[in-house]
Amino acid sequence: MTPTRIALVGIGKIARDQHIPALASSEAFELAATVSRSGGIEGVENYTRVEAMLEARPDIPAVSFCTPPQVRHSGARAALEAGRHVMLEKPPGASLSEVHALECLADERGLSLFATWHSRHAAAVPAAKAWLADKQIRAVRIVWKEDVRVWHPGQQWIWEAGGLGIFDPAINAFSILTEILPVPVHVTRADLHFPVNCDTPIAGEIRMSSSGGPLVTAEVDFLHEGPPAWRQEIETDAGTLTLDKGGAVMRIDGVAPQGDGVTETGIQGEYEGLYSKFAELLAGGASEVDLRPMVLVADAFTLGKRHQAPEFIDPTLQEA
Ligand code: NAP
Repeated sequence: MTPTRIALVGIGKIARDQHIPALASSEAFELAATVSRSGGIEGVENYTRVEAMLEARPDIPAVSFCTPPQVRHSGARAALEAGRHVMLEKPPGASLSEVHALECLADERGLSLFATWHSRHAAAVPAAKAWLADKQIRAVRIVWKEDVRVWHPGQQWIWEAGGLGIFDPAINAFSILTEILPVPVHVTRADLHFPVNCDTPIAGEIRMSSSGGPLVTAEVDFLHEGPPAWRQEIETDAGTLTLDKGGAVMRIDGVAPQGDGVTETGIQGEYEGLYSKFAELLAGGASEVDLRPMVLVADAFTLGKRHQAPEFIDPTLQEA
């Protein structure tokens, strides 16, 4: 198989930690260029603007965006207008309407658009979905807590409008929830804690219902010290399923049915899964844009009661 040439836009933490290694091991893709204001990576041709790359490299049919959500849309639009297939990091944009616009454009031009949710490719997510498929869901408790100073040092964009704050990681929980739960849910209440100096929340509690009544509670916190808690407990008529470590480990009533091989917290294997899926979409001439996780976040902002939290100072930015 001849690999598809792909360009990577935005060479920050996730590009270096996951996209570049996943592309290096991919048989389906070859990293042919980067778009980076800060210089890109050694040995790969770099451009500082998406438009310049699109003009200079008509031989690159696919572009993958790892930029912050607030600056994703214009580059993705330019790529689609130039006839390229597009893959988007999560969240797929800063607003639902801008992602809808990309979806329409891709459809009009017959191009593939892939709005990725990396957590759906965590090791135990497919097994959890299969186990839950015929169960009655009684209650769901999500705990998504991590230390922003460890996981997102110096990322000022997270605290600016459109950066989502704590929902930047918590949308991963919602991407798993909407994938595995056999019933749809909707947000009924949210309490969101905004630092006085930030546009986005640092913590919150969110409640969701299904047609049968209240079902989900989610506690999310960006100031949680120590190992992160990325866990969902789903109580059913046949026992309680726990998905832990961001979806990597599943237990039913405390027992891991497939063995408890994963001990490290991380997102190993998820990006290989994303690029395999993108290759599949390209081969089939299809798109995948599932906005349900982003709808839950948008609804939490719409319904959210705003609470004031102390000023947040990123120690990394202070040192800089
Ligand atoms: P990051 O470290 O801040 O990297 C983003 C990169 O985008 C920057 O390094 C910069 O690269 C480029 N960029 C272009 N315009 C920018 C602007 N106006 N402000 C800041 N950066 C700009 O962020 P990240 O953690 O990689 O996150 C990027 C996306 O990946 C987010 O949507 C995030 O939710 C998602 N994600 C992150 C993680 C994680 O663990 N960090 C995990 C999964 C998904 P150049 O210097 O090359 O231009």
